Amino acid sequence: MKALGKLKKEKGLWIYDAPMPEIGPHDVLIKIKYTALCGTDLHIYLWDDWAQKTIPVPMTVGHEFMGVIEKVGSAVKGFKKGDRVSGEGHIVCGECRNCREERRHLCPRTQGIGVNRTGCFAEYLAHPAINVIPLPDEIPDEVGSFLDPFGNAVHTALSFDLVGQDVLITGAGPIGMMAAAIAKFAGARRIVVTDTNDYRLGMAKKMGATQTVNVKKTTIAAVEKQLHIEDGFTVGLEMSGSPEALRSMIENMSYGGRMALLGILPADAWINWVHVIFKGLTLKGIYGREMFVTWNKMIAMILSGLDVSPVITHVLPYQEFDKGFEAMQKGDSGKVILKW
Ligand code: NAD
Ligand code: ZN
Repeated sequence: MKALGKLKKEKGLWIYDAPMPEIGPHDVLIKIKYTALCGTDLHIYLWDDWAQKTIPVPMTVGHEFMGVIEKVGSAVKGFKKGDRVSGEGHIVCGECRNCREERRHLCPRTQGIGVNRTGCFAEYLAHPAINVIPLPDEIPDEVGSFLDPFGNAVHTALSFDLVGQDVLITGAGPIGMMAAAIAKFAGARRIVVTDTNDYRLGMAKKMGATQTVNVKKTTIAAVEKQLHIEDGFTVGLEMSGSPEALRSMIENMSYGGRMALLGILPADAWINWVHVIFKGLTLKGIYGREMFVTWNKMIAMILSGLDVSPVITHVLPYQEFDKGFEAMQKGDSGKVILKW
């Protein structure tokens, strides 16, 4: 079968002939229809320090997908050939304390497909049935392919009660844009989204932001004044991975404000702890999606009217993956999807 892999320890990805995956008794074989590109894939493509330390070579990459079940393992119940599915790409041990206490997203032995083990950018994927998510007919194939990052946005945004809250989202990447839509859907009052890229801020506005801030041109404080947000934001969602953005959030939070941090910050990012202590801020780190509460919530929200499809800017044949990575590097993209 055709697959897209990291075959050399240098910039790039390569289409190659990979062996057809074998399934165990608890797995299903999925015929992949659509996959989506994530920032993680861009790191792997560019072969930066993190990728060099993390990614085994050779390996098929990718973790965002939808497809159709081709074959089920002998012990699998509840799935059959022809079912439309997506899947949770974090594979957990099932045996540790957190797994047994139903906090699977906090399993210390998590393995990510396309990062630590064979990924989904291929014609077929063998996947543990427990990680497979059935797709209702109402969810289009293209949207089904990026439920993973939508789940990051849902997990982060719904970490705190949003009803009537003033929400600051730093970073208008695909996840920040979707978080704006979720916050609006969940009943937030004013939603302010920051970025340095006007194209992406325009998309965030369309998806639900009350007001956007290009932090190169204006300040968050100025926009707060304009919107009559008196004493700062009550909820903050950090979705840029930028230390400056984190610091600006901490400065603009209200007393008792609650912050969920998704963006992957450098280890040496500093913050003004005085604000954290004296404002009594709550900071929560977010990794992945809650298994499987987040999946249930995100599917239910789509079925009850939340539309995340405007985040899609590119649907390309998989052979044109280079074009997709180019658009991501330029920043004139939302979600980039590859058709298999
Ligand atoms: P992305 O890189 O597409 O978006 C990040 C955005 O932040 C970009 O649009 C960029 O212009 C913007 N930005 C940069 N500096 C900024 C600043 N000073 N102020 C405001 N915005 C700024 O990423 P994404 O796919 O939307 O993901 C968002 C973040 O979440 C990334 O850091 C990603 O690595 C991280 N992530 C974490 C998890 C997790 O499980 N914790 C999962 C997926 C993604
Ligand atoms: Zn575990």
